[in-house]
Amino acid sequence: MKDTVVRVSDLGVTYAGTPAIADLDFSVTRGEFVSVVGPSGCGKSTMLNVLSGLLEPTYGSVSVNGRVLYSSGEPLPRLGYVFQTHRLLPWKTVRQNLELVLSAAGVPRQQWSERIERLLDVLQISEFAETWPMRLSGGQRLRVSIARALVIEPSYILMDEPLSTLDEVTARTMRQELSSIVAKTGSTVIFVTHSIREAVFLADRLIILTRGPARVFEERIIDIERPRLYEDARIGQIEAEVVEKVLGAWGLDEPRKEAV
Ligand code: ADP
Repeated sequence: MKDTVVRVSDLGVTYAGTPAIADLDFSVTRGEFVSVVGPSGCGKSTMLNVLSGLLEPTYGSVSVNGRVLYSSGEPLPRLGYVFQTHRLLPWKTVRQNLELVLSAAGVPRQQWSERIERLLDVLQISEFAETWPMRLSGGQRLRVSIARALVIEPSYILMDEPLSTLDEVTARTMRQELSSIVAKTGSTVIFVTHSIREAVFLADRLIILTRGPARVFEERIIDIERPRLYEDARIGQIEAEVVEKVLGAWGLDEPRKEAV
């Protein structure tokens, strides 16, 4: 039996009688990078809210390292979050932004500087430790937000389309870097995106959701050795196969309804 970190079992979320997630089941093992793709409005944000401890599901459960979230008395697991926008505090330096989460996570102060130095080094942003976030480029800010997620040594990291606000050239570099950072740190990641190619490129396993309410449409192991190249023809091939499959399932092959 593999070492399961996150187990989502028969999960359902209903908003005022309308289901946003229905019977969602999947697991993530330690050190695995799982990409989740689904069309807009299918329930991805709702799923992330449940996984991050913000939204109690209507039914079913999420367990992390065997402990069920939302059961009384259970503390929230330590999790890292990389958002669509960097969400760094502009009046704090890079170091202070990282110290803030270390403090909130209750990490003893004597460990802070060693952890910060090590991560800034891995992410190649050591020279920006005392810099204000607004002085950094988009790619550098993303690196800082990845460092902020990693510095608390989380059980798992949720990434919510973190590359979607970057220009395409920076996004390409960052995809490549993200892949190597995650490999270096052995992190367990759930990465949500609407870009199928990006999802395939980064993932050990791809989870394709249905059009809402979200459930698993298909899972696929991405068995391509690392380091990978974004332009690798095998990635393009898998992308094409996935697109072909989801066209019907996501309702993208239906004729558009003309406005009257
Ligand atoms: P995605 O992130 O995939 O775009 P969401 O999780 O945001 O999807 O939304 C899934 C469905 O749930 C959508 O139909 C959306 O309108 C609905 N929804 C999301 N949040 C709320 C809410 N707080 N109250 C009511 N309906 C919601």
